[in-house]
Amino acid sequence: MTAVDGADALRQIREQPDIGLVVLDLNMPNMDGFQVLEALRNDARLRRLRTILLTSSDEMENEIRGLQLGAADYIRKPLQRDALRARIKTHVDLLQIQQALEQKLQTQGQTYELIFEQAPIGIAISFGSDPSDAEKNAYYSINPMFEQITGRSKASLLELGWARITHPDDLAQDLEQYAKLQAGEIDAYSIEKRLIRPDGSIVWVQLSVSALKIANSHQQNHIALLQDITQRKEMEQALRYNNDHDRWTGLYNRSFLERLLAEDADRTLHEKRAVVGINLVEIQSLTSRYGFQYTQKLIKKIVAALLDHCSGTRSLFCTYENRFVFYIKNYTDKQDLIRFSQEIAATLKEHLAPERIGGGISIVEINQDNAYAVEQLLKDLLIASEYAMRDAEHELGVCYYDDQLAANFARRQDIEDELIRVAASKADDGLYLHYQPVLDLKTGRICAFEALTRLHSDMLGNLSPAEFIPIAEEAKLILPIGRKIVSQALCFLKRLHESGFESVSVLINISIIQLIDHEFSRNLFQVIRDVRVNPESIGLEITESVFAADFDRINRILGVLDRAGLHVSIDDFGTGYSSFSREQDLNIKSLKIDKSFVDGIMQTDPDKTVIADIIAMAHKFDHITIAEGVEHEKQLRYLKACGCDWIQGYLVSRPLDENAALDFLARFETR
Ligand code: C2E
Ligand code: MG
Ligand code: MG
Repeated sequence: MTAVDGADALRQIREQPDIGLVVLDLNMPNMDGFQVLEALRNDARLRRLRTILLTSSDEMENEIRGLQLGAADYIRKPLQRDALRARIKTHVDLLQIQQALEQKLQTQGQTYELIFEQAPIGIAISFGSDPSDAEKNAYYSINPMFEQITGRSKASLLELGWARITHPDDLAQDLEQYAKLQAGEIDAYSIEKRLIRPDGSIVWVQLSVSALKIANSHQQNHIALLQDITQRKEMEQALRYNNDHDRWTGLYNRSFLERLLAEDADRTLHEKRAVVGINLVEIQSLTSRYGFQYTQKLIKKIVAALLDHCSGTRSLFCTYENRFVFYIKNYTDKQDLIRFSQEIAATLKEHLAPERIGGGISIVEINQDNAYAVEQLLKDLLIASEYAMRDAEHELGVCYYDDQLAANFARRQDIEDELIRVAASKADDGLYLHYQPVLDLKTGRICAFEALTRLHSDMLGNLSPAEFIPIAEEAKLILPIGRKIVSQALCFLKRLHESGFESVSVLINISIIQLIDHEFSRNLFQVIRDVRVNPESIGLEITESVFAADFDRINRILGVLDRAGLHVSIDDFGTGYSSFSREQDLNIKSLKIDKSFVDGIMQTDPDKTVIADIIAMAHKFDHITIAEGVEHEKQLRYLKACGCDWIQGYLVSRPLDENAALDFLARFETR
């Protein structure tokens, strides 16, 4: 209803006793809002009528004055329809509660009935778990919301009892608590459970049950409040799904596996448990070549294939984009796990071989020592998978984690730490070179020294390059360490020349990683200038892996070095990727024939060794030949007969420190 001014409003209010709420503007013709408020206050019948003032934001004084005159609230202009509606609704609700309370004082029963019927929460009183329990259901009553939530009528609820409409998985805990309540052990309990509706659908409810003392009744009655929390549960479940699953594969993820392993550590003390890890780190290289979709598709195919290997005792997890774990229980023994891993390797190979990539498979058995250290367990699994990968090279290796592997890994870490220290240090810090003489068979004179690196560490003692160089290469520490080696070797060369041995060279071993570093040549030429040595007295030994890597690019770099006068040679020739057809095109001056061929001279019929052929072939390309690891006179004689140019080995001398090398040279020259 609306009124045109204050006087009109008062008249209408007096005529209509049902009006419960008035929204009052302050600025009105004839009679303003304050005057209306005062008139209402002075009328005993209308004193308690709720009024809401319409004010402007700059009328604070008026708002206070209005409230003092009995207004219940004020709403500031400009008005918004929805906000106005909501505010008015709140006042209507308050009004109703107020009225109900007043009624309660008059007729208690009626009001209770009203609340029971209209409550937005399901209420049941003494509704037993068992329908035959008539006594317990004596005070039985159920409100409409209870019927709505359960989807069942009062009559059918009574007939069934609550146990039969409770989800079987949730029943035990409810019955247990209910029994305690009935026995008087507890006064109340609250649980979340699932109810089954007549159509079979599930509704999640929050149930609060309290003991109810009813006068004149000796039995245990109770009141149950039921709230529908299905929506909240669904949201929780969606959230939990995302937390527990890998986004791309839909498999359970790492955090789920971690939880499971931790729980099982407590639960399954005597069961055999193990994890088998699959690491497909190389798969990422496909992404840069063919794109994300391609890799994802391949991973999905692989997951589908791996899932075929799951069973009641074997489940699969995706712990990272390209890493998977089988969690295995109740296997027979280590052999059983190895067999399984090999089956996995065979399955993976089908998918990975066409892509020319590999991976690593690792096994960690769970025992009392590692069961509770889940994070360490998964780390061990990863370490073992990396070992598997390293050993296999483009194949699918399997590696079993044991104490030996743990010790190897720890030593590797220690060595890497030492190398980091050396690389960061300004001084040489334990890094030093030994020099092994090379004998020219044609002249009978020492023509060169090969620089062989050593590392002394306070913690680890003396380390062999065969052990620390591969680690330095893998960690890319060979770059800073290689620079130190080159400087030391060139300083020795300078010392040789200053001591009068101008025709003697120094041969330095260089890793492929150093060679392809774009600063390598520049740095090298800089040191040559700084130390002031002749590039023609410097040899670089590169391993055969140049044949496997980016041949053209490497050959260009070798060309630059060759033209600058350096003597490049291929080390360990004949062991790996060597290829005579490529050797012909390579910008090198010499071939260093691997020790294994030299060893062969001792064992086999000299006519059957290929050394003579290698030497003959190398000479065709105008390459000098060097035989390494010569230990015996017989080898020397044979090599001489084949026309080998230079030899190196214990027969001539072991690697020597700088001073010993100079002494050796002086003695050799004056023989
Ligand atoms: P390599 O370049 O083929 O060096 C020859 C290895 O054989 C050296 O081992 C040497 O001490 C050993 N040797 C020499 N004559 C004989 C012999 O008559 N009998 C036997 N049994 N062994 C002999 P070392 O010093 O342990 O070096 C191992 C490998 O480490 C080297 O093989 C080389 O590949 C690498 N290396 C050494 N120093 C460096 C370096 O400064 N940089 C790089 N990148 N690699 C290096
Ligand atoms: Mg060498
Ligand atoms: Mg060698």
